[in-house]
Amino acid sequence: MTGRRVIVTGVPGVGKTTVVTGALKVLEGEGISYRSLNFGTYMFETAQKEGLARDRDEMRRLPGDIQKTLQQSAARAMARESGNILVDTHASVKTPKGFMAGLPEWVLRELMPDTLILVETDEDQILMRRLSDETRTRDMEGSGAIADHQQFNRAIAASYSMLTGCTIKYITNADFLLDRAVEEMAAVLR
Ligand code: AMP
Ligand code: MG
Repeated sequence: MTGRRVIVTGVPGVGKTTVVTGALKVLEGEGISYRSLNFGTYMFETAQKEGLARDRDEMRRLPGDIQKTLQQSAARAMARESGNILVDTHASVKTPKGFMAGLPEWVLRELMPDTLILVETDEDQILMRRLSDETRTRDMEGSGAIADHQQFNRAIAASYSMLTGCTIKYITNADFLLDRAVEEMAAVLR
């Protein structure tokens, strides 16, 4: 049997990488291991090599066909991994031309997840987290736009479940309650 394939998504700044790191640490102590793959990193390695982007936050502003080419080759590369894998990515990416599916049909066919996790929290909390993150060029948008993005992600996640039969799990990463989110994610991955 091949391993489990879990995709973790969430709008920028929700803290998905933080929750993933915590959950994998909990599981490591139990002898359960996942290989954690960051979709954006796979895309960025190619984009950088080809001189298309200087930092990872530039990619979502590239022409749509280029983003799709990078997306497809990243999915192919990740599909070659065996064992339990966890893919850190986005249900949808906010581009200047509108939301782009993070997991269109041809990406899902490569990855075929068992479970898709949506890490979420109140839009006001996400806004504050973005404002205090100096390591990234986060989109400057209001809490209403962040709420819309999270709503769109739930909608598109339903279609991902239709295409693959994967389960959909919402995990709340609320302020001061990181431990709870970590435990919930560990429970899904166990
Ligand atoms: P992140 O570090 O997770 O915010 O990802 C950095 C960038 O990688 C995003 O802003 C997107 O441009 C790109 N990216 C990540 N996952 C996907 C995906 N599934 N489809 C398209 N672009 C993606
Ligand atoms: Mg991240």
